[in-house]
Amino acid sequence: MEHYERVWAEVDLDAFTRNLYAIRGAVSPKAGIIGVIKADGYGHGAVPLAREMEGMDFVQGYATATAQEGFSLRRAGIRKEIFVLGYTFPSDYPEMLRQRIGAAAFTEQMLSDMDRAGREAGEKMRIHIAVDTGMSRIGIRPDDAGIRFVRTAAACPGLEISGVFTHFAESDETDKTRAEAQFAAFTAFAERIRRESGLAGLRFHCANSAAILDMPQTHLDAVRAGIILYGLWPSDEVDHVHTRLEPILSLRSHVVYVKELEAGREISYGGTWKTQAPTRVATIPVGYGDGYPRSLSNRGSVLIRGRRAPILGRVCMDQFMADVTGIPGVETGTEVTLIGRDGGEQITMEELGGLSGRFNYELACCLGRRIPRLYKKDGKTVQIRDFEA
Ligand SMILES: *Cc1c(COP(=O)(O)O)cnc(C)c1O
Repeated sequence: MEHYERVWAEVDLDAFTRNLYAIRGAVSPKAGIIGVIKADGYGHGAVPLAREMEGMDFVQGYATATAQEGFSLRRAGIRKEIFVLGYTFPSDYPEMLRQRIGAAAFTEQMLSDMDRAGREAGEKMRIHIAVDTGMSRIGIRPDDAGIRFVRTAAACPGLEISGVFTHFAESDETDKTRAEAQFAAFTAFAERIRRESGLAGLRFHCANSAAILDMPQTHLDAVRAGIILYGLWPSDEVDHVHTRLEPILSLRSHVVYVKELEAGREISYGGTWKTQAPTRVATIPVGYGDGYPRSLSNRGSVLIRGRRAPILGRVCMDQFMADVTGIPGVETGTEVTLIGRDGGEQITMEELGGLSGRFNYELACCLGRRIPRLYKKDGKTVQIRDFEA
């Protein structure tokens, strides 16, 4: 079954696999890949993508943003390592232990709560120690107190240190000065841990997508690949040449109404577009209720029959209008591409992210629950996720 009419997203699992092999080719051979699939795999669907990565030996595991995202992966039978990148709440620790979900740790309170939960469960809570080298979000400082923190963690019987990590704030910019300073602080701290705590074999990781592409020296023991898994770019400034990535998601719909408007007619709420000449206008049944940004009003366009049709007037919650004057053969039922390719034309998440004043990451995450996801292999639909079915 793949009879979706109003709106649907196609996720190309073959392109996803090609992206992973391209990333593997870009990553230092001694580093494993951690697939960052938070926020439901940046809106693409964490479970179907994790299933693809289960069989790839170079993928060590997955990172999520919340414990609940980890639980949903385990519920779906995902078995590799999972850890949570952000804060986790003590009420979740028992379940995280049962499901072998690791946690970021960065306060003494977290260590003692996690240690107690581990001892009570008769298991070890797996932790990744977060180090703040300049992002100022979460993490211990890489200083003397930081060394004491690592020693304390290592001495807790209910804990196992699975990794030590930091996160770059500006690795996606051309000027890598700050990213390099963060990296230097991190490697110096790693060296101190090795020397002063006597802990051997710790896994150090810091590279996000931008650092994977642009800063090979940062790959260390593992890299955390996020946006590039999906064939999207961390920014315009990173190297787009050496790693071949393909966007894996396309968003499509159908025209539901076509009409001719005479000059001087206003279109949509607020009358922000007024026709200057006779105009052929198509109505498309998608809107910001689906996560299609309202800020594309009078700015964005869609592809119809391989041509660009500019958006006219405001994007409504569930519908918007586009100019199809000069595109022959548009009628009710004609396919519309909101993101993806149609003939020689392409609309990327990056283009819409820029035009809408959002951001490609944000746009992908915000694709709504009203949009069914169809997973394709060899051109065939192999799975459907329809939240409203
Ligand atoms: C989201 C996130 C990543 C992945 O970032 P990308 O830019 O998508 O590669 C890596 N590490 C941490 C800590 C994150 O929060």
